[in-house]
Amino acid sequence: MNAELELGLERRIGKRSAAVIEKHLGITTVGGLLNYFPRRYLNRGELTPISEVPLDEEVTLIARVVSSSTRAMRARRGTLTDVVITDDDGTLKVSFFNGYRAKAELLPGRRALFSGKVTRYAGNLSLTNPDFQLLDEDPDTPGMDPEKLAAMPIPIYPATAKLTSWSIQKVISTLLDTADLELLDDPLPGDVSAREKFLPAAEAYRLIHTPEVPGDWQRARDRFRYQEALVLQSALARRRAQLAAEEATARRPVAVGILTAFDRQLPFTLTAGQSAVGKTLAEELSQDSPMNRLLQGEVGSGKTIVALRAMLQVVDAGGQAALLAPTEVLAAQHFESIRRTLGPLSRDGLLGGSGPDAVQVTLLTGSMPVAARKQAMLDAASGTAGIVIGTHALLSDNVSFYDLGLIVVDEQHRFGVEQRDALRAKASKPPHLLVMTATPIPRTVAMTVFGDLETSVLDELPAGRAPISTHVVGLAENPGWAGRIWSRSREEIDAGHQVYVVCPKIGEDDDGDFSPGEAEPTAADLEGDGPARELASVTAVVEHLQDEPALAGVSLAPLHGRQDPALKSATMASFTANETKLLVSTTVIEVGVDVHNATLMVILDADRFGISQLHQLRGRVGRGGLPGTCLLVTTLEPGHPSRRRLDAVAATTDGFELSQEDLKLRREGDILGASQSGGRSALKLLRVLEHEDVIAKARQDAQQIVAADPALAGHSALAEAIEEYLNPEKEAFLERG
Ligand code: ADP
Ligand code: MG
Repeated sequence: MNAELELGLERRIGKRSAAVIEKHLGITTVGGLLNYFPRRYLNRGELTPISEVPLDEEVTLIARVVSSSTRAMRARRGTLTDVVITDDDGTLKVSFFNGYRAKAELLPGRRALFSGKVTRYAGNLSLTNPDFQLLDEDPDTPGMDPEKLAAMPIPIYPATAKLTSWSIQKVISTLLDTADLELLDDPLPGDVSAREKFLPAAEAYRLIHTPEVPGDWQRARDRFRYQEALVLQSALARRRAQLAAEEATARRPVAVGILTAFDRQLPFTLTAGQSAVGKTLAEELSQDSPMNRLLQGEVGSGKTIVALRAMLQVVDAGGQAALLAPTEVLAAQHFESIRRTLGPLSRDGLLGGSGPDAVQVTLLTGSMPVAARKQAMLDAASGTAGIVIGTHALLSDNVSFYDLGLIVVDEQHRFGVEQRDALRAKASKPPHLLVMTATPIPRTVAMTVFGDLETSVLDELPAGRAPISTHVVGLAENPGWAGRIWSRSREEIDAGHQVYVVCPKIGEDDDGDFSPGEAEPTAADLEGDGPARELASVTAVVEHLQDEPALAGVSLAPLHGRQDPALKSATMASFTANETKLLVSTTVIEVGVDVHNATLMVILDADRFGISQLHQLRGRVGRGGLPGTCLLVTTLEPGHPSRRRLDAVAATTDGFELSQEDLKLRREGDILGASQSGGRSALKLLRVLEHEDVIAKARQDAQQIVAADPALAGHSALAEAIEEYLNPEKEAFLERG
């Protein structure tokens, strides 16, 4: 038991300091404060480049005083001391109101640490009433060798306006002196530490907070970073082991059944990837421990067939399968297309009735008429329905199954542990689980967010898939292109094809549609909103296009999330049937919608969407062997940072490349869904993109540790660190996965 880490802070640093730390940092334990690591380190010998200091953030920088002057204020009583500081390149004006200490201490030539918010006023950088500390005379380290002192890195802690980095540093050095670090039980197994030559925990804590040379904190940080990865991966490995130890019903393939009949009637041959994944699924479904698998595949890679074949194996073995889609539109589409694909193998309640060699496919969504919904629920509960397709409504308490053997979750990359568990609870024994996503997930993110699932990838598209060409249409530099977009649409329609027009908003005054399963920041989150501009909305665009000469006589329809579900399905059906030629919609069509005849997608104000969202969207065209075109329309100036995203999407159709690009633009916390409250993300030192090696190594170690010692009885400090990690706040992070 690492009692020292659990100890209340007041026992080690006194009541007063403990109260200050709790008030400003919310930390109450020894372990909490020891693990409050510096964000970075400043080098005493170097001045901070002033031009690189971020604006409007709490920053700490080292600078030299150039000049200082004090005068009485005109409008009110008191004095104003203006100090000019420099990094030898640029200067920064620092103003102090009644700054007696500043006037006395900040003399020309002196160097000091300054902490505060740098703002820009009338084109000049300035800092008002910052906290400062002289560097040249270091009162805390009297008698220290000046050369050694010059080399000592200064730890910079995430500070607040009320609590400076150096106050935090002081409290932590006190803690390092008083805490009983030698008693710490190390969460890292001895053999791992020996192999990696990691510092022991006590020394690592000392060096990360009070390094004497830069190499000190680097070594300490490597160790803690690995520890973080190991704790996370061990938590996931333990969960995997627990899931694998559960007992499921084996659903073995049968020699003659619906699946074999289905394979015979398939109009195409499976790609090599589809066959390989199919084989894996068939084997795992035949086991009496539950399958828990993530299937990643580019848009259009043919995941649905793979899932359908798995569902048929389960149905053949006497079980039921549920397919969960993120939206009602998508659920309805799956329902239609799966019944179409099954053909005579699909039994439609009263109509079909082609004997035991058919499966009843049932749609069950929240917005269905009560009678139909009741019937669907009855069919699920009685086992009449072999395949049940729905939305999250399937999660509701009053839906039950006769014998649910397999759950397939489609197109939802943020379908967390909690939802998976709710679904698992729908069967007496845990059902097999297949999660599918078209959003490419870099390996390490998959290992982190979906670490409790095994992963398969479909990386080839079926033959005959036509390429999509993507172009950025910049209206700022080429206003004339606005009309050209619509004549281009007309050409497509005259050639017998169909067009999607996507808008960021529904009406004149709203914030856009809810887009399922996406947690992407909008451009506004990334760059600040900038000057207000009128964004394309579905209603306004429909109105405009009705009067657009190039589209005269073209049948067009709006589609968005706020419409009545019946209207939505009718609109979608009419578009699928090629009656509606042009669909103006929000991102409701983002995932899964599959209309082969659609060849052109126009995305208006495309800069309002994130990279992977744009990639998803354009995957809706070029699906039927016809080449697809995607126009990313923007009114932003060519140099605007958001245009970079559009250029990236236009430059490649490789989803994995794009998702790496995307992650670079997003904050770590957004990827992991961790709360950013207080500026602390769930992962402290680990960066899922940068530290792939660390994560992979830790995953392997964790796997071995958990395999040899499932209860972690011989790894009590690691087990404790996992519990600490899974505290409610962080558990939410895992659950949201
Ligand atoms: P996604 O992976 O995006 O969900 P779908 O499963 O919707 O892809 O498949 C896209 C289209 O490709 C569907 O119309 C499907 O029938 C077709 N398809 C799937 N597999 C193959 C294949 N092996 N050969 C040809 N077409 C295929
Ligand atoms: Mg799909």
